[in-house]
Amino acid sequence: MTEGKRRFLRMYICFNAMKLGFKQGLKPFIGLDGTFLKGHCKGQLLVAVAQDCQNHFYPLAWAVVDKENTLTWTWFLELLKYSLNLKDGTDITFTSDIQKGLLEAVRTIHPLSNHRFCLRHIEANWSKRIRISGEMKKYLWWSTWSTYEEDFKDQLKNLGELSVDAVKELLRYPPQNWCRSYFDTLCKNQMVKNNFTESFNSWILEARGNPILKMLEDIRIKIMNRLREKEEEVRTWGGEFSPNCLKLYAVYLKVANLCTVHFNGETGYEVSEGGDRHTLNQVEKKCTCRSWQLTGIPCPHTIRALKYEKEDPMTEISWWHNKEAYPMTYRDKLMPVGGEGNVEDVSCSVPQPTQPTQEGECESEFVFMPTPRQQLASAGTRVISFRGDHTSVSYPTDLPYSPTKLTWKGKEAVTKINWKCCFDGVCFVGSSAGSLLGSSSADSLLGSAIRIV
Ligand SMILES: [Zn+2]
Repeated sequence: MTEGKRRFLRMYICFNAMKLGFKQGLKPFIGLDGTFLKGHCKGQLLVAVAQDCQNHFYPLAWAVVDKENTLTWTWFLELLKYSLNLKDGTDITFTSDIQKGLLEAVRTIHPLSNHRFCLRHIEANWSKRIRISGEMKKYLWWSTWSTYEEDFKDQLKNLGELSVDAVKELLRYPPQNWCRSYFDTLCKNQMVKNNFTESFNSWILEARGNPILKMLEDIRIKIMNRLREKEEEVRTWGGEFSPNCLKLYAVYLKVANLCTVHFNGETGYEVSEGGDRHTLNQVEKKCTCRSWQLTGIPCPHTIRALKYEKEDPMTEISWWHNKEAYPMTYRDKLMPVGGEGNVEDVSCSVPQPTQPTQEGECESEFVFMPTPRQQLASAGTRVISFRGDHTSVSYPTDLPYSPTKLTWKGKEAVTKINWKCCFDGVCFVGSSAGSLLGSSSADSLLGSAIRIV
C-alpha cells in the first residue's frame, strides 16, 4: 500500500514442473541475469536459468522487479533457495555477470556456493581499461580455457610477453571466478560464459514488450510448449549419450591418439600429452588435467589409459550426459490453466527484502572468435599434479604476474600475503570500499573485495 493505494511491487514465479526438472535431471549449475522490460511498464526481469546436457537453457524461475539491486536480488535468491531447496549453496554453482548487488546477494543467501563470472563481461571491462589487441584476446580465452594451473600460467606468460599491464589488469579479476583451472567439478559444467541465460532473455524478447501480466502469460505458454518440444528431441539421438557429449568425446579421442601412456601396475597411469605429463586415478575418476572432472566426460588421457587396458572409455561418461537423464528434466509439464475467472485469489507469505543498497550494472559484448586447442609439443617432461579440495576448487599460487597494486588512502591495500585472501571469493570490508578503484561497477566490486590489513 502506498498513499492508500495498492501498488504492484514485484512478482516471483517458479512452477512446480521447473522444481522437479531441476531436482531430477539438471546439473547444479544456475545462471543469473537481469534484463529490462521493453513495454510501457518500466522495470526489470530477474531470471534463474539452468542448462541441460545439450546446453539448452532451462528456465527455473523469474521475477518482475522495479530494478535490479542488492535488495531485489536478495529477495529473488531467497525465494529461489526455498523453491529449489538450495540451502546455503553447498554444491551449487552460480554464473553471472559481475554486478555488485547480485554478488552481494549470492554471498548473503548462498554463502557456500561457487560463483563464476562471465568471461565476456570480464573481457569487455578489461578491454576498456587498456589497449587490447586480437592476439591478447586470444591469450585471454586460452587462459580461461586452461583446465590446470600450469597451462594457465603458460598462457599468462604468453600474454605478459605482449603486455605486462594487460596481465596485471586481468588478474584484478579473481582467476578462480573465471578460469577452469580453479573451478569446482561437482556441476560437471565447464562453461565460462553466461550466454545460455542471455539466450533465455532473447527468447522472451517479444514477451518483454507486453504489459506485465501479458508478458508473464506469454512466458508461461512458451515454456509449456518448450518442455514438450525438448522432451521429444531425445528421440533424434543416435546413441546412449547426448550429441553434445559425443561431439566433445570425439575431439578428446583424437587428442588421445596422440598421447603416450605408461602404467606402474599399482597406483595409476602416466599419460604424456605434448610437453606435459598427466597422472590419472581411475578409482577416484580424476586426471590432473581436470577435464574429466570438469565435464564428466573422459579426457584424452583417460581415454588413452583405458584403451591401453582394452576397456571402453565411454563407460566412464557421467550419468548427466545419459539418455536417461535428459527426459527426467522434461518429464513434468506445465498444466494448462483457464481464463481470469478461474484464478483463485490466494494469499501467501514470502520473504521480504530488508536492506536497500546501491545497484551496479555493466553490459558487455562478445567480439572475439577463439581458436582451437594448441598443437602438441613433443616431450612430456613437465609433471602435472592434483590440486584442490574435495570439490576440486583451488586457488591461484605463484602466478607469473601480480595484479596492479591497489591503494587505500595512499597506502597499499593488498599485501603479497593476503593477495590470496583478496581472491578468496569476494570479501566485503567496510561500506566505503566500493569507491576505491573508480567508477565502473566491476571496479567497485573488486575494490570492495579487498581485505585490508
Ligand atoms: Zn586428463
